[in-house]
Amino acid sequence: MEEDQLIPISALQHYAYCPRQCALIHIEQVFVDNIWTAKGKWSHERVDEEHVLSSKGYTITTSLRVWSERLGLTGICDVVEWHGDTPYPVEFKHGPRKGHLWDDTQLCAQAMCLEDMCGVPVPEGAIYHVSSRHRRVVTFTPELRAKVEEMVQAVRALYTAEALPPAVHDQRCTHCSLQDVCMPEWTDGTAPRSWYDVLAQVGEDIG
Ligand code: SF4
Repeated sequence: MEEDQLIPISALQHYAYCPRQCALIHIEQVFVDNIWTAKGKWSHERVDEEHVLSSKGYTITTSLRVWSERLGLTGICDVVEWHGDTPYPVEFKHGPRKGHLWDDTQLCAQAMCLEDMCGVPVPEGAIYHVSSRHRRVVTFTPELRAKVEEMVQAVRALYTAEALPPAVHDQRCTHCSLQDVCMPEWTDGTAPRSWYDVLAQVGEDIG
């Protein structure tokens, strides 16, 4: 598989959060910062600069490029601890401590790439929540792995789709930096799509 055919692991995370967000960022190449994305970048840059040391004395690699030709995926791990020969990915996140499918999917995809690269099982990793300094262990269950493979297929299908997915238009939009570009109230599939539709809708409303 050519390098430009590999799907970025971040696309899986964006897809798990909102398929439309994934398409806007990875296909339409739209990206707008808000406080959450800015904080996220800041914490990732700190990882790059500080070469974070593990309190347990593991050897650590930061910003490690990973890939899997089998899955057609590529990405960068914030931190990989080496527990002997077994890599243990750690992803840095801002935001609440509770587990989110989109974060766990991203970490699991990194682990699956590391397995293919190193030829050893990678049973778990961790999300480090920067604000609370809490480390949440994520076990890479068969269900989570299946979810990753399912999302790879779904994201690949997005690249060949003729239209953007509809907006989710729910509480996820509140924290999304793409609101102004996406206009979820108009693009969730319930609003009129053209001036003809608008006029038809107005006609129905007054009619
Ligand atoms: S504003 Fe909502 S629907 Fe639009 S991309 Fe963001 S999360 Fe998705």
